[in-house]
Amino acid sequence: MSCKDTICAIATPPGAGGIGIVRISGAKSLAVLGKIWEGKRDVSSFESHKMYLGRIFNPQTRIFIDTAMAVWMRGPYSYTGEDVVEISSHGGQAVMGQILNSCVAAGAKIAEPGGFTKRAFLNGKMDLIQAEAVADLIAATNETAAYVALEQLEGRLSREVTGFIDELTGLRAFVEASIDFPEEDIEIIEKEGITSRLQRISNKVKLLADTYTEGRTIKDGVSVAIVGKPNVGKSSLFNAIVGHERAIVHHAPGTTRDLVKETIQLGGISFHITDAAGLWVGEHEVEKIGIEKARKLVAGSDIVLFVLDGSGDPDGSDYEIYKTLCPEKTVICVNKSDLPPAFRKLPFDSAGGEIEFALVSAVTGEGVESLKRTLTFKIGSKGKNESVVVTSARHKEALDSAIANLGEAIKAARETQSAEFIAQHINLAHESLGRITGQVTTETVLNEIFSRFCIGK
Ligand code: GDP
Repeated sequence: MSCKDTICAIATPPGAGGIGIVRISGAKSLAVLGKIWEGKRDVSSFESHKMYLGRIFNPQTRIFIDTAMAVWMRGPYSYTGEDVVEISSHGGQAVMGQILNSCVAAGAKIAEPGGFTKRAFLNGKMDLIQAEAVADLIAATNETAAYVALEQLEGRLSREVTGFIDELTGLRAFVEASIDFPEEDIEIIEKEGITSRLQRISNKVKLLADTYTEGRTIKDGVSVAIVGKPNVGKSSLFNAIVGHERAIVHHAPGTTRDLVKETIQLGGISFHITDAAGLWVGEHEVEKIGIEKARKLVAGSDIVLFVLDGSGDPDGSDYEIYKTLCPEKTVICVNKSDLPPAFRKLPFDSAGGEIEFALVSAVTGEGVESLKRTLTFKIGSKGKNESVVVTSARHKEALDSAIANLGEAIKAARETQSAEFIAQHINLAHESLGRITGQVTTETVLNEIFSRFCIGK
C-alpha cells in the first residue's frame, strides 16, 4: 500500500458500543466523506478540527446508514500528519461495517494494522520509540505500564537516545577529521580525550540498558509459580491470592488437571500467578513427571511460591522439589497455619537466610495479605519514578550492540589503533542507536513493528 492511498479503518474495538469511530487518512479523506455525507453543511465548507452533524449514506445504493458526527483535521495538524476524517456513529458491528464499506466504495482502502501510526512515523510526526509506545499504551493493563508508555510517547526516551546520537556525531566528526592527517591522528585523539569521552557515553548507554530489567517487569508483569507436592494447599493458596475460586480444591491428591493462571495487580504491577497443582497428573506418576514439570515451571518464573503443609512433617517429595528451587526467587509458604504445627523451625536450609518464608493459612486467609506484600517487595520498587526506563526487547538489543561497539572503539583508542578503525566502531554504535529511534531502519523492520498493532491504530 502506497502512502498516496487514502486509508480507512474502524478505530474503536469490535463489538457493540455507544459510539464507534471510523477513521480516514490521506489526501482524499474529505472527498471520501463528501461522497457518503449529507448534512446542513457541505464538506467543502468544513473548518478543520470542528465537529459537524450529518447523515451517512452508502454512495452506491443511497441507503441511509446512521446519523453521525464528523470531524476533519487538516494535515499536518493531525495524528498521521495527513488530512484525517473521523466519523463518530452509533457503535455496532453492522453500522460500523456499513460505514467502512461505504468509505471503500467512495475510494478509500482498508488500512493495515498500525497503518495510521506507520504514516505518523513516515511523516515525521513521531519517531519509532514513540510509535511503539502507542501500541504499549493501548496494551497497558496497569497504571505503571501506562505511565511508562506515556512517558515514551511524550518523547523522554527519544530525547535521551537522541542525546547519545548527537554526542557520538560530534566525536565521530573529530575522529574522522584526524584520518586525513595520519601522522597526527593518534595525537589528536589523545589530546581531545576521545577515550574518556567515549567511556562517558558508554557508561550512560549502559545505565539506560540496565533499566530493562525493571522495564520488562513493568510492561510484561511478573510470573509467579505456586509449586509443592500434592495436597499441601497450592490451589487453595492460589484462590486466596487471586481472591476468588479459580482452581479446583480437593482433598484427594492430583485433582487439578490443567495449569490454572490468573493475573492480579499489586502496587501497579501485573503478577501472573500459575497454580502448578495440575503438574501432578496421577498418584503413580506423582514423583517423576510432576517434579520434572515443576522444574521447568520454576526455571521460567520470576518468583516461586514453594508450598509446604505446616501440619505435617516434610517428606522426600518436598525435598525433591526444594532441590529444584533457586533461593533468591523463592518464598517458602508454610501453609495450614490454622492447624497445630508439625515443626517450629523450617526443616530446610535457608541458603544463608536468602530464602524468604511466609506462614499462611489458605483457608482462613491469615498471612495472605502479608505474602502479597512480600511479592511486591521481592521485585523491588518498580512504581512510577523519575528515570527513563527501557521496556522493549528491541531497544535493549540495540543498546547492547551500541555498548559493544563503543567498547571496541574505546579499546582501539587505548591501543592507539588507526583513527579509521575507531571511527568505524563509533559509526556502528551510532547506527545501533539510530535503529531505536528509527533514524536507521528498513521496510522489514517497520513491517515487523507495525504488524503487531491493532487495525485502526
Ligand atoms: P493442592 O493439591 O496442593 O493444590 O492442595 P489443595 O488446595 O487442593 O488442598 C488440599 C486440601 O488441603 C484440601 O482439603 C484443602 O481444603 C486443605 N487445605 C488447603 N489449605 C489449607 C489451610 O490453610 N488450612 C487447612 N486446615 N486446610 C487446608
